[in-house]
Amino acid sequence: MSAKHLLQKVAADGGFATTMEMLEHYAIDSVVPGICIICGGIDDSIEPDREDACCDECGTDTVKSVLVIAGVI
Ligand SMILES: [Zn+2]
Repeated sequence: MSAKHLLQKVAADGGFATTMEMLEHYAIDSVVPGICIICGGIDDSIEPDREDACCDECGTDTVKSVLVIAGVI
């Protein structure tokens, strides 16, 4: 999945209309959603600069925060 598709998946899962709306919502939060770049599993709360959180779905350390994927951080 491309970064764009990963972000769209997280935005849809969180009930946001657009990726930008989601990023603006989480831009100043201390925890943000992340998504596994391997399987697409979503983690609801990880550190904003995290890019190696463990995935509950596939068990690898490949969950990145939405801010990292979007290139905000
Ligand atoms: Zn995974």
